[in-house]
Formats: sequence, structure tokens, C-alpha cells
Amino acid sequence: MHRKDELKHQGMRNHLVSELKTKGITDENVLKAIAKVPRHLYLDSSFEAHAYQDKAFPIGANQTISQPFTVATQTALLEVKSGDKILEVGTGCGYQTAVLIALGAKVYTVERQLELFKKTKLFFQQMPYRPKKMIYGDGYIGYAEQAPFDGIIVTAGAPELPEALLKQLTLGGRLVIPVGDGSTQQMHKYVKTSPTKFSKSLHGEFRFVPLLEDKEGLS
Ligand code: SAH
Repeated sequence: MHRKDELKHQGMRNHLVSELKTKGITDENVLKAIAKVPRHLYLDSSFEAHAYQDKAFPIGANQTISQPFTVATQTALLEVKSGDKILEVGTGCGYQTAVLIALGAKVYTVERQLELFKKTKLFFQQMPYRPKKMIYGDGYIGYAEQAPFDGIIVTAGAPELPEALLKQLTLGGRLVIPVGDGSTQQMHKYVKTSPTKFSKSLHGEFRFVPLLEDKEGLS
């Protein structure tokens, strides 16, 4: 790869971490992961100068990379421990995936847009943060083949809760998902507390691109 991670980028990342702290992110492990992952390499080179601002950016195919604050919030809610098996729905450019891997998670990640799937799959091969598997498919139905998961994170706005995802959690497993059918969503966290019960909590309003059903070609 001709683009590099240099000292100046580390400086910008440290700055971003301070900004996230002032915005209320306290999870030290999450902040450390964000300090490690070179976000500028996950963006088109034309956005490189802005990569460490707390902003969302276009990544092609009408999709966006989530704002660092959103990534930090969702990752902290997921309570990732090293070795956890995590399912990510909505790979996009792979930045959130990399943050999870930097925390020691084994990540399975699903993307429904073929163009992004191909591009990001190639990109992962050039980076040190690689998922266990990247799947071209519809994350709405989860990934039964590798279930159950210690955590499931959805990085697109779901009009309603996809029940299949709850079924794919381990006991104690967490599902972090933005739910809402308008232009904004409420961040929901579900924890599987018994074989049949879940606790639910809400964690603020966010704005995501929509979670779409089926694969791109089929919808
Ligand atoms: N985590 C990503 C965020 C990308 S935006 C990042 O950091 O870049 C949300 C992504 O979810 C898009 O790439 C979109 O194509 C994908 N998506 C939407 N509906 C989906 C579905 N049903 N299954 C899998 N991916 C989906």
C-alpha cells in the first residue's frame, strides 16, 4: 500500500481521542483501539485531511463511514472482551470492523452491497486488522452458520428490531442496534439475561443510513 500511517496521523488520532473524551466516551479500551486504527486509510484519499475529525464521510455506493463518536458509543455498549465472537452487520469501509479487531474480537462481518463488499474485502487483505470472515449477504437475518455471538453490532438504521439477531446471542450476549423508521434512530441495547429473556436500554439519538433487507441484487 502506498499510503502510510505516519507520526502526524498518530498525533491527529490522539487529538480525536481527547475530543471523544470531552464528548463523554470513558471506556479506556475503546479509546485505545481508536488511538490505534489508522482511520485515514479507510477513507478515500481525498478525505484524508479530515479523517480525524469527528464526522461521517461518504464511502461510495451511497453509504457513509460512521462518525467516530458513533463508533465509540456502539463499541463501548457492545462490551467487547478479548476473544469474543462478534457479528457486525454493515461492513461498509471496514473501520468499525477494525476497531473491534483491535479490541481482540473475532469478527464476522456482513455487507449486502456487492461493490462495497468487493472493495473492502480486498482492502482488508492489505491491513493488519482482518475479520475472521467477510460475508456477502443480508445481515437482517444474522449469520446462523457461526451463531451464537457474544455481541452483535448493527451499523445501519433498522426500521424495526430484526428478531433473528436476538436469537443468535449467547447467554449474556449483547445486541447494539439503532432502531427507528424516520431519519433518526434510537440506539438500543439488548442483553440476553436468560434463555428466553432480554433486557433493553436506550442510549440516545443517532442518524444512520437505512438497514435494507435482502442482498442488493434481490431487493
Ligand atoms: N460500519 C460501517 C458503516 C457503514 S454504513 C463503517 O464504519 O464504514 C452501513 C452499511 O450497512 C453500508 O455499507 C450498507 O451497505 C450496509 N447494509 C445496509 N443494509 C444491510 C444489510 N441488510 N445487511 C448487511 N449490510 C447492510
